[in-house]
Amino acid sequence: MVKKVKQKAKGAQGKKIPKRTGTKKCKRCGTARGMISRYHLGICRRCFHDIAEALGFKKYGG
Ligand SMILES: [Zn+2]
Repeated sequence: MVKKVKQKAKGAQGKKIPKRTGTKKCKRCGTARGMISRYHLGICRRCFHDIAEALGFKKYGG
């Protein structure tokens, strides 16, 4: 048997999922992971922990 190969139409399934732009990087360490957008600080949660006290945030949990 000979299988007929269907030609894929270009563009039909060539949709690229747009990456989410606007992902800010931590201005402190440069990582884009764990960014805290809640306080609009532009830092990640890790750095947030470091400077939270300096910013006046009280530690909570733990
Ligand atoms: Zn950071």
